[in-house]
Amino acid sequence: MPDDTSTCVDHENANASSSLASPVALINARAIKHNIARLRQLLACDQRARAPRIWAVAKADAYGHTLEHAYPGLCHADGLAVLTLHEVRRCRALGWAGPILAMSPQLTHAALNDPCLYPLHLIIDHDEQLAQLASLNLPFAPHAWVRFRGRLSHAGFDHVSYRAAYALLHAALQEGRLAGLGHLQHYADAEDAGQLQQERQAFQALIAGMPGPVCTENSAALLSDPAAAAATDWVRSGIALYGISPLHGLSGHDLGLRPAMVLQAPVYGVHMLQAGEFLGYHSLFQATRETRVGLVRCGYADGYPRGLTAGCEVMVGGRKATIIGRVSMDTLTIDLSDHPEIGPNAIVTMWGTSELPIETVASQASTIPAQLCTALTERVPRVAIA
Ligand SMILES: *Cc1c(COP(=O)(O)O)cnc(C)c1O
Repeated sequence: MPDDTSTCVDHENANASSSLASPVALINARAIKHNIARLRQLLACDQRARAPRIWAVAKADAYGHTLEHAYPGLCHADGLAVLTLHEVRRCRALGWAGPILAMSPQLTHAALNDPCLYPLHLIIDHDEQLAQLASLNLPFAPHAWVRFRGRLSHAGFDHVSYRAAYALLHAALQEGRLAGLGHLQHYADAEDAGQLQQERQAFQALIAGMPGPVCTENSAALLSDPAAAAATDWVRSGIALYGISPLHGLSGHDLGLRPAMVLQAPVYGVHMLQAGEFLGYHSLFQATRETRVGLVRCGYADGYPRGLTAGCEVMVGGRKATIIGRVSMDTLTIDLSDHPEIGPNAIVTMWGTSELPIETVASQASTIPAQLCTALTERVPRVAIA
């Protein structure tokens, strides 16, 4: 059986990158499809008759992969989750007819009175929305999910107001103004097993006696405790779908996930530095020996992190090379002293292979992978690869 993405993209063979003038992010929807299948496999560990359904979280333009290029993979989930009704429309325009969860929707009659939005699920997280929902007179009934504020304490009802919100929405459900009513929480510390356990228990205690489906698990919660996630009704997974591990010390590869994005850029110049010469802004690098420098057309204006510490790596010609000097707006500089065969037009990979996962780059840049892939700028075309 051909293993389509075992090392994700073979950059030497990817047509899109045979001659690059600027950085490009190659998007692999088949990796997303694989990752959804992997999550289903984990969720099936429980003996329950019905494994939870999966919301594919596609906010922030599918975590920077773009909805359009990610969609052929995301469409293997049971529903799509985005923030706004505008994004719901974009999903419908791509052909998605299944459920969509709007996590931060506008609740006006004008905005919701559009059959193309349905089946539509809405997160309800503050009092004003309860009043807005009650005043709607729509020919379609949305599903509602009451959101608990929890430890994260962003949007959501607190312990007391949660019960009242549920009661109001439950009445609307019985009157047929809602198609369904569920319980939702978003964890603050899903990466920490102990904290996660506490957050889960607090939520269980809160919703006891209030019937309805439960949707609490993000990627980190699901991956760290699939059996607990399997006991819920819907999971909301984002980062894992794109092949990225949310768990400290584990790569996506370790978790059976495949990266859906490879960031590449060309070498546009090569020159020698003599021992003692400086390189880059603020003379951050000084050669201690004769050094062959490669200039790579990728900088922080493309979304590459400026804050990388010395010793961070890229891949070129199938091997690692080290970044030297300060990452600038348009250029990063690499040490090609041990890569005599690499010259101008060679393709450099910044992240997205099993040798150089985005998790490594993110930790070297003191950030998280989700920030890196959502921070790519418009200067970086996203190109779909088969
Ligand atoms: C972004 C988001 C998710 C997805 O989280 P991941 O950690 O990427 O899986 C789930 N639920 C809510 C409410 C979110 O905002």
